[in-house]
Amino acid sequence: MSHYQVVKGARDIFPDEMVQWKHVEDVMHWLARIYGFSEIRTPVFEYTELFQRSIGSATDIVGKEMFTFFPDGSGRSITLRPEMTAGVMRAALQKNLLASAPVQKLYYISELFRKERPQAGRQRQFSQFGAELLGASSPAAVAEVIMFMMHVFDELGLSGLRLRINSLGSIDDRRRYREALRAYLAPHYDRLDDASRERFEKNPLRILDSKNPDMQEIVAGAPRLHEHLGDEARRDFDLVLGYLSGRGIDYRIDHLLVRGLDYYSYTAFEVTSTALGAQDALGGGGRYDSLALELGSPKEVPAAGFAVGMERLLIAMQKQGLLPEAVPAGPEVCIIVPQQEFFDQAFALAARLRDEGISTAIDLAGRSMKAQLREAGRMRAASALFVGGDELSSGMFPLKDLDASFQETLPLEGAIARMRERSITKQDQP
Ligand code: AMP
Repeated sequence: MSHYQVVKGARDIFPDEMVQWKHVEDVMHWLARIYGFSEIRTPVFEYTELFQRSIGSATDIVGKEMFTFFPDGSGRSITLRPEMTAGVMRAALQKNLLASAPVQKLYYISELFRKERPQAGRQRQFSQFGAELLGASSPAAVAEVIMFMMHVFDELGLSGLRLRINSLGSIDDRRRYREALRAYLAPHYDRLDDASRERFEKNPLRILDSKNPDMQEIVAGAPRLHEHLGDEARRDFDLVLGYLSGRGIDYRIDHLLVRGLDYYSYTAFEVTSTALGAQDALGGGGRYDSLALELGSPKEVPAAGFAVGMERLLIAMQKQGLLPEAVPAGPEVCIIVPQQEFFDQAFALAARLRDEGISTAIDLAGRSMKAQLREAGRMRAASALFVGGDELSSGMFPLKDLDASFQETLPLEGAIARMRERSITKQDQP
């Protein structure tokens, strides 16, 4: 064992587990296509100001969770992205994407970095699958984003999900509410915990989110955000809910749901799973029309999106027995070389089979025939093809079906045809 260890809060994903990740990702790519979202990749780092501006400096993320560094020892600071929305919006604005098509539907599966205390379901490097719909934030656009997310969960077979949804109102509604909330909390200031005191000035809505029972007790009597919503926000919210009901999506309105980030307005939502422990949030999102303005765009860009934690999604699926067996697919054929003096010819034959599109393994470590056969079984190769001196001179090769323990001797073309047949029948199996 090496004395080097993976960094705390990060993890390796080995080939067996990759099989499960690929299964989940395949569903995401497929449904993205069905819903008309195109994949985007942005750099893992951005200039720090991007996140300060967009996520908001009063949030936990910007306040204490960012991995920030100065690549040149000084000058402009850079941050490993703690979320994707800001980078995607930055990219869209920089490229002026909305000039080519006024609605851009983008999605990603990407790694993020937050300096949080690692625990089950919480890492310092983790991945999210998410979507950003830029250029529209009508009730139908917001509903479409939610439908896409819920469809993915549904297709993966997840149960025990709860979708909570709220309207944060317009920016003006929120400003009025913030004042009302502060006025209510002021007489309780002495009883607020440190985190809430900090939030009191900068972002009092976050106090509604507090997990501290004492704070929850104080908050229970606070004025309600929904009582401060203007007519427009109410109408908008009802329309979003109508689309969800029409689609048969269950939701619960949660007036305390505010989400951590500053750029949300109007609809915000979060999905939790009963299969998860303390960190039960699977994903969330909302509408963020003002983000583009914050990033220096001359006008608002209506927008909505969601992000789902990949690791937590896989944990929930694991708990519910929804993941495929963690076994990488074996090769179609393993070439067995009984005598090493014929290795080079066998090696050339492997190349030829690969040219034919047949996935081919060959021992590269000069092991005995017995060890090669054992390895073929371990890899779950479908067949073994014996390539020795007699075979090479006669042009007839023993091909063994390793599943059925059945063997026949064929010319190379015949063996290739047989392997093709087998891999087709195999794909047809459920
Ligand atoms: P957020 O952007 O904080 O709303 O995160 C969206 C989703 O990403 C959450 O619901 C989690 O599933 C996942 N997530 C957030 N932070 C972490 C983390 N530190 N480790 C693993 N998953 C995370």
